[in-house]
Amino acid sequence: MTNTRRILLQVTLPFTLVGFVFLGFSFLGVWSINRLQENRARIISTNVRKLQAALEMEIRLRQFRFHSVLMLIEPIPRRRGVVEEDRRQFEQAFASANDLAELPAERKLLEEVSVGFQRYCRELDAVHRTKPHWATLEDLLLWSDAHPVHHLMGPCEELLRINGQAMESTAQESQSLGQQGRTLFLLMGVLGPLGGLLSGFGAAWGLSRSITRLRIHLRDASAHLDQESGLVSLTGEGTSDQLDRQLEQVVKKIKDVVGRSQQQQRDLIRTEQLAAIGQLAASIAHEVRNPLTGIKLLVGAAIQQRSPRSLSLEDLEFIHAEIRRLEKKVQALLDFARPSEPIRERTDLRDQVHQALHLVETRIRQVGVRPEIDLPADPVWVEIDRDQVNGVLVNLFLNALDAMPRGGILSVALGREPDETARLTVTDTGAGISPVVEERLFTPFASTKKTGTGLGLSISRRIVVDHGGTLTGNNRPEGGARFTISLPREKGGAEDGQVAGR
Ligand code: ADP
Repeated sequence: MTNTRRILLQVTLPFTLVGFVFLGFSFLGVWSINRLQENRARIISTNVRKLQAALEMEIRLRQFRFHSVLMLIEPIPRRRGVVEEDRRQFEQAFASANDLAELPAERKLLEEVSVGFQRYCRELDAVHRTKPHWATLEDLLLWSDAHPVHHLMGPCEELLRINGQAMESTAQESQSLGQQGRTLFLLMGVLGPLGGLLSGFGAAWGLSRSITRLRIHLRDASAHLDQESGLVSLTGEGTSDQLDRQLEQVVKKIKDVVGRSQQQQRDLIRTEQLAAIGQLAASIAHEVRNPLTGIKLLVGAAIQQRSPRSLSLEDLEFIHAEIRRLEKKVQALLDFARPSEPIRERTDLRDQVHQALHLVETRIRQVGVRPEIDLPADPVWVEIDRDQVNGVLVNLFLNALDAMPRGGILSVALGREPDETARLTVTDTGAGISPVVEERLFTPFASTKKTGTGLGLSISRRIVVDHGGTLTGNNRPEGGARFTISLPREKGGAEDGQVAGR
């Protein structure tokens, strides 16, 4: 993530979060209000239907009573039909009131109505059968008033009252819920902008703090730059445009300083190189002068005019050996200056180790070193320039022997790594790598030896790297040095075997 994006995210995140929280609350509020309204509407419609049913029941009951009294006055079939119809309609109203009844009180009242109605019907039938006769209208009215239908009217009216009360409490609840909803939305309306304001204030405060910090850093940087490269006019104050210009100025100065420091670095390297070349020249001069002096003395004696001494076989062998030494030095220099292209051949690295060890056999015996060789039983196939790798191994062995002038153990271990590489370690029990060269072990001309060129390890590393491998060296905690070569193994070579010499 780029810095700009991160800053943008930091600034906008609180707003976005606050926004989302309010959005969530709004949705929740709308949803719950909708649900409440639906519930209220359902309850109100049920209450209205209950009220209607109770009212209907009462009306039918009154009609039934009226028509039944008329039928007793004039018991003709038509009146009986009307009474039957009233009864049926009452029963219908009762059934729908019964269906809608939910509360125990309602059910109890309806039970009373049902029992009372059946009793009233039975009594009416009994009166009808006795065929009563009322002398006056007053007698009839007295009978009608004393009629048990009164017991029925009470529960009906009570049912109406309960339903009316339920309607009223539902209306009150709706009102108070509406009030709560209004308060909630008012609160959100107030808190929303307030939250936005606070977040904005927080973000602005955070940004201003960052800018202040930036200004302090800028002033700090400018103070440093003043020391490094003259005056940088920087106040760290002003508008963002001014700040931008000041920043540009600082960046320009930094570029200047970095450019100069790089130039100094290059000069330093060049100086070091020149010094190293001087050292090399001195070392070559030293190396060349000694054999040349010996050769010059012998040849000088042979060409003396007064008593010339002919060169013996021993002299010639000495001259030959010295010339070979010279040649070797020159070859090392040439190798360093112009490394030849590797000519690769499929080789078993174990053979290469044997060959190199054979070349240093005499030295090993001379210094009394005990070699410990640990090679796998199967071939370790690599694609290498045999001469070049041979040179690397001989160099590592000779360095190890140089480090153990009074004897020790030279361990050579070869193994396969799981990552398709061959790993060869050369370990000695000598004094270890001197701190003088430890840091620049593989840089040319780094040597602690009187007659050393300091080219061996740098040439060796170049050869190994040219082969796609690595060469590393370090001191062991238990004493002595260890050099490790990793080379890519040839694909399709023997895959088994253990990693030796870890
Ligand atoms: P030279 O042998 O000519 O000095 P090298 O590049 O081969 O050049 O080695 C550089 C230096 O590294 C040596 O002079 C020596 O100080 C150090 N060195 C190399 N191998 C070993 C080792 N096995 N033990 C201790 N020091 C080592």
